[in-house]
Amino acid sequence: MLGVVLHAPGDVRTEELAMPVVIEPTDAIIRVTATCICGSDLWPYRGIEAVRGPQRMGHEYIGVVETVGDAVTLVKPGDHVVGSFVASDNTCEICRAGYQSRCVHQVMMGSVGTQAQYARIPLADGTLVPMPGQPPADLVPSLLAASDVLGTGWFAAAAAGAGPDKTVAVVGDGAVGLLGVLAAAQLGAERIIVMSRHADRQELARRFGATDIVEERGDEGVARVRELTGGLGVHSTIEAVGTQESMDQAIRATRPGGHVGFVGVSHDVSLDGLELFFSSVHLHGGPAPVRRFLPELIRLIWDREIDPGAVFDLTLPLADAAEGYRAMDERRATKVLLTTD
Ligand SMILES: [Zn+2]
Repeated sequence: MLGVVLHAPGDVRTEELAMPVVIEPTDAIIRVTATCICGSDLWPYRGIEAVRGPQRMGHEYIGVVETVGDAVTLVKPGDHVVGSFVASDNTCEICRAGYQSRCVHQVMMGSVGTQAQYARIPLADGTLVPMPGQPPADLVPSLLAASDVLGTGWFAAAAAGAGPDKTVAVVGDGAVGLLGVLAAAQLGAERIIVMSRHADRQELARRFGATDIVEERGDEGVARVRELTGGLGVHSTIEAVGTQESMDQAIRATRPGGHVGFVGVSHDVSLDGLELFFSSVHLHGGPAPVRRFLPELIRLIWDREIDPGAVFDLTLPLADAAEGYRAMDERRATKVLLTTD
């Protein structure tokens, strides 16, 4: 089978790999029907995160169950499934509290690699959620988005307390930020301010429910958000980048008592204690517990109430994954879907 392997920064290849097999009785093997490239895949691709020798890539996936281990009871061969980017048992105390991405038995799917024709899914009963049936082709991008970027944007919006009567700011106009807009709109936010300087992404943000665009960045961007909110700052901020600048911007744009939902994978971010003290904001984030939201997200997509798949602006065969990485690295694409057949 074909799968994507990163050998060194900038050197990603689609190669012939061994077929995955059931190792633990709780495993399932799925035929991956669609996968994609994540913004976080760019960290090692750009060399900002260390490349640990030739490493398998990808953690987003939908597929069809092929075989299951002896202990798997909730999914069966033939099921069409969506899974989270973190495998979880969904039964431990952390999972039951809704934090499946930090399950005591968690397995990061990036270490397994889902940019491939087949994948081993650990803890299949806890990780995979069956769809109502075989998805119509036009819903595939949206269902795939649920595996990470939609679920992550949704968690960020929930963690930021987005809801009726709330003004929400979104820092970051990548796929997660854009789907944070969609989530905030679905959760009933009154006003959604997106910080973006790319015309095409602004347009998609508006389609997803954004009401205002702020093109300024850093402290100028914060000043503009405050101007739009009577000097107070927003109630809720979604931080979807993970840099010092974006985190500072998120905290400073939020009013005292407000909430910041941060889901950008943090890289060299440090917070000033005294500034944090006087900000009086709630900070809540981390790897999104996508599994918590999956049943509801699948339903919303199946019923065509949301169209998160619109974030994909380039589709390539798995064999051309290297071009997909280049396109995202050079910002020619927001998010790249990889077909597997
Ligand atoms: Zn658990």
